[in-house]
Amino acid sequence: MQLSRPSEITIGALGCIRFQAGRYLYVGSAKRGWDARIARHMAPEKKLRWHVDYLTTHPQVVLQRAWMSEQDQECVTAQQLLLLPGVEVALPRMGASDCQCAAHCMRATHILSVRHRLKTLHYQLWQPPTKRSS
Ligand SMILES: [Zn+2]
Repeated sequence: MQLSRPSEITIGALGCIRFQAGRYLYVGSAKRGWDARIARHMAPEKKLRWHVDYLTTHPQVVLQRAWMSEQDQECVTAQQLLLLPGVEVALPRMGASDCQCAAHCMRATHILSVRHRLKTLHYQLWQPPTKRSS
């Protein structure tokens, strides 16, 4: 997702946080129904439930694309992405309240290396169900 300009955004109980403009990533998982889960994350309007919802519903945020993997590798992915140059924690612990990761939400200045790493982790670009050919 892209935040078009620096913004102060209230992230639930974490409070009002200043986010720099730029590209943000969120890594999540769903034990079942991952397709519906991604569709929900990619919807600009929804009931606020998770921390990331406060970002994805913000008027300055444009949701761009989602990648999916059928492997259970949420934390591995978050940690691998955070090792890349140009990827930093957006807000400590954001999206990572149930695990030991630094965060599952990050800001990326180097999106090409992110895409490359997602491909090596066997992620595929997600398509909304309505846009699939079959
Ligand atoms: Zn984690």
